[in-house]
Amino acid sequence: MSSKPHVGIIGAGLAGLRCADILIQNGARVTILEARDRVGGRICQDSLGEHKVDLGPNWIHGQGENPIMSLAEATKTVTYDPDGGNYMVSRDGKFISEALGTRVSEFVWTTIAEAFTYSNEQREKIRPEESLYDFFVTKVRQTDFSEEEQQLCLDACRLWGAYVGEPTKRQSLRFFRLEECIDGYNYFVAGTYTKILEQIAKKAQSHADIKLNHPIVNIDAPIRKTDTPTNENQVTLTTASGDRFTFDDVVITCPLGWLKHNTNVFTPSLPPRLLKAIDSISYGRLEKVFVKFPKAFWQTSSSSSSTEKNSDLPVNPVFTQFLQPNYADHPEDLEWNQECLSIASLPEPCAHPTLLFYTYGPGGAHIVDSIASLDPSSKEYKDTLIAKLQPFYSKLPGYDASSPDCVPDAVLATRWQTDPYAGFGSYCNFQVGLEEGDRDIEVMRSGAGVGAERGLWFAGEHTSPFVALGTTTGAYWSGERVAGQVCERRGLTCVGVRSGKDDSLPSAKASL
Ligand SMILES: Cc1cc2nc3c(=O)[nH]c(=O)nc-3n(C[C@H](O)[C@H](O)[C@H](O)COP(=O)(O)OP(=O)(O)OC[C@H]3O[C@@H](n4cnc5c(N)ncnc54)[C@H](O)[C@@H]3O)c2cc1C
Repeated sequence: MSSKPHVGIIGAGLAGLRCADILIQNGARVTILEARDRVGGRICQDSLGEHKVDLGPNWIHGQGENPIMSLAEATKTVTYDPDGGNYMVSRDGKFISEALGTRVSEFVWTTIAEAFTYSNEQREKIRPEESLYDFFVTKVRQTDFSEEEQQLCLDACRLWGAYVGEPTKRQSLRFFRLEECIDGYNYFVAGTYTKILEQIAKKAQSHADIKLNHPIVNIDAPIRKTDTPTNENQVTLTTASGDRFTFDDVVITCPLGWLKHNTNVFTPSLPPRLLKAIDSISYGRLEKVFVKFPKAFWQTSSSSSSTEKNSDLPVNPVFTQFLQPNYADHPEDLEWNQECLSIASLPEPCAHPTLLFYTYGPGGAHIVDSIASLDPSSKEYKDTLIAKLQPFYSKLPGYDASSPDCVPDAVLATRWQTDPYAGFGSYCNFQVGLEEGDRDIEVMRSGAGVGAERGLWFAGEHTSPFVALGTTTGAYWSGERVAGQVCERRGLTCVGVRSGKDDSLPSAKASL
């Protein structure tokens, strides 16, 4: 065996970049084949007027030993804890008083914490078809809330969909524990993920051969003849333009959604249990829409007259939740709840007069479909998005249809679910019907043995430790873990790999 193994990594997202970093540190030669014309994968930014916004992640979930939080600090990236109340708008478009809104929010978050505990402790008893929504219904019936308040609670709990990318009625209760994050608060990355990504990419950019615009369409990995790693049976990757590359080992960091659509690219086929795992874990559809205005008309300045302030509502909250709106046109049977975050509330210099709407599942698909054929620089694109969201932002205090301050001057919507290299969606989640969710994740991490047998290894957010599934932290840790697996197999030293067990279940303590 030659001294330096040559490892191919498919994908230059966080998992691939972190994996490259560790492999390089431990003496491997690394080539990254990336389908896009840039690194970062689901981490990327675009312009909204004169501002830069994150199209993918903009939260860091939990602190403690969270390496992404440490990287944010090291790169002086501004982060923000959006503590405080939120506006809640009921079905008929009326603001809910701060006191009632607080009760409803408390009920929702307490019930979510209880659902984590229940899912942790009663996992065997919970039927696969039970949903988080079912749990909410049971719990709300045990309160002394009025019928109207109970309905509000159930409407509000649907916004869990904006965390996982699909409706709460589809969230598996049995595997709800897999949604639990690292302890601590969630921080909004006000300064965008730009510098964090640059930092993670540094080593790969200086020491690996990164081949952009190289989408892989075939992965040929024969079963090795001997149990000891040799270079004789190499893995061959073929790109869309027919170029072929061979490696001693290959790390696949393509998103779960990509794997679901491309299981046929592997020769020979992947083991049945691995195929089952890929099929069983779901892939969400979270999308974002940014609406920028000339001025943050919804913000009440401290100098505003008392008549402009409504003492019954929170002052300048970061979030507004629009619950089951019957005032906004949308196809029947479509869950059309929206949640928006005021970027005007971020600390300087990151604030700008923009509302960021989170939209998910069928609602997100509806928005993406409506702009599918439109050029983002066209008037039609802008008008289409405004028509969808004006019913919501027009409810905010300070809105005046005749004021130019209330007319958006820039809009931008993501389209992850049309992006093959994002796997036609956002990140993994756990839907009703799932029977062996934790086992499926373990199987994807282990690759069902194809690492040792065929030189194929898997990483990406869907293969992360349970406490970080679906997150940037998870993608980063999965890159470390897989690099450790390759180093071990190849007899390399193994520095830089996170200690701790990937298979540990999160504690029952909710991180909310
Ligand atoms: C809208 C949205 C919001 C999110 N919000 C958050 C958040 O707030 N906080 C958080 O922690 N996480 C969030 N996430 C999830 C987070 O972005 C991901 O967990 C993380 O970025 C995944 O990194 P990865 O390396 O696993 O995958 P990716 O970043 O997707 O990297 C995979 C790479 O593989 C490449 N690739 C795919 N197919 C091929 C092929 N055939 N050949 C070659 N290359 C290929 C892709 O182009 C990509 O570069 C969000 C994601 C989305 C979409």
